[in-house]
Amino acid sequence: MIFAVLILLLLWVFQYFFLARYYRTARVRAVGEVADNIAGSFGSNSLQVEMKRAAFDNSMCIVLADTTGRIIAAENNLGSFSRFFADAMGSGQYMEELRSALGSGKDDSVIRILKSESLKSDEIIYCRSFTSRSSTMPYYIYIEASAEPIDSTVSIIREQLIYITIILIELAFIITLFISKRLSRPIVGITETAKKFAGGDFGVEFDQRGYLEISELSDVLDKAKDEIGKVNKLKADLIANISHDLRTPLTMVKAYAEMIRDLSGDDPVKRNEHVQIIIDEADRLSNLVNDILELSKLETGNLELNYTEFSLHENIRSVLTRYTLLIEQEGWDIAFEPDEDRTVRADAEKLDQVLYNFINNAVNYSGDNKVIRIRQINSEKNTRIEVADNGLGISKELLPMVFDRYYRGDKVKRDKVGTGLGLSICKEILKRHNFAFGVQSEEGKGSAFWFEIPYEKPQQTKQQ
Ligand code: ADP
Repeated sequence: MIFAVLILLLLWVFQYFFLARYYRTARVRAVGEVADNIAGSFGSNSLQVEMKRAAFDNSMCIVLADTTGRIIAAENNLGSFSRFFADAMGSGQYMEELRSALGSGKDDSVIRILKSESLKSDEIIYCRSFTSRSSTMPYYIYIEASAEPIDSTVSIIREQLIYITIILIELAFIITLFISKRLSRPIVGITETAKKFAGGDFGVEFDQRGYLEISELSDVLDKAKDEIGKVNKLKADLIANISHDLRTPLTMVKAYAEMIRDLSGDDPVKRNEHVQIIIDEADRLSNLVNDILELSKLETGNLELNYTEFSLHENIRSVLTRYTLLIEQEGWDIAFEPDEDRTVRADAEKLDQVLYNFINNAVNYSGDNKVIRIRQINSEKNTRIEVADNGLGISKELLPMVFDRYYRGDKVKRDKVGTGLGLSICKEILKRHNFAFGVQSEEGKGSAFWFEIPYEKPQQTKQQ
């Protein structure tokens, strides 16, 4: 609106203040040009035509006279209002005055601007002398013209300007209304939705319609909403899971403690059995708390990896020593199938943790088949470590979830295993290392959990 009003204001200012001034300058210039033309065509046949046309085109009265004041030719387009016409009729003396003014000055032309009562506008009167080749005496051209626009064009333009003003203001108003509605409507919509969202309603949908920037904003907000929703759900799940997992061992601890107090306190065999259960449950609790702490450290990125270079064979063999008891006393067949040894760069302690988790899971979910293989498979670009069992396996539907936090197979008995955090800890450790990892499994046949350590050929080998 302001822009439209400014333009109009400019137009009106030009129309009213500058048009008259501009017109006058143009008229003065036109008068000079006409005089030049007539002087130029003096003595030729076209003089009469030239004068007629100039007078008609410019609404002028043009008179050509000699020094004595005798009129040689005249064209009057101002009608009886003309001062020169009055001169010719003997009732005026403008031409004479101009001629004497010209005579006393140095210039060969003189111009005056007079107020005309009859025409109610300013008038230009002009005189110029020139000499022709045929005579030594000078000749005079007198021109009289209105200095203000007096024809109908000006009033038409003014009228048009009024219409333009009205149309422009209305148009600006309508366009402004339309654009501001179009701009603000989606923003208002988004704000409303955002308010609901801020109030905790995660089911809201941000309207993606509207111009590009708005639909992008909606898109971003929608994504943010989804993420926050997910985090919220995860938080709720986490609290539910943790409290459930904490409560179960606590109930057991309490129940067995009461049992010792009330029943088995005096029976050393029973009492020891019950105390052992309490100790086991306490261990389970501390494992759970440790796992939660470990995972939260890993997930928040607060855990620095301590990279070292070490021999893969040595590392895996030292991990396996933990299972000697299982192998010797419980009939487990746990063996390492090595490839050529490689020096790898990783956080050895964390990598051991991954291996322990994989092997423990294999032990826990092997069922009656007690065969577990830890395989090393070398390739050009990486070293793959695989922990394979021939146990229960994992169904296709559940396979994508095993690395998720708190995921535990439904068939898993409580007394069997840990916290449901083991594989998510492995996932975080491997992700931090940028190692590829995964699982292949078939229900009833067994599973193979694997990860790959990127391998670079040592410099020396290249030189050889
Ligand atoms: P946890 O072993 O404490 O339950 P994990 O995160 O280590 O938690 O494992 C998640 C789930 O993945 C297990 O509950 C189990 O259902 C499944 N799983 C893991 N390893 C194996 C395996 N080797 N064979 C079959 N199922 C497995």
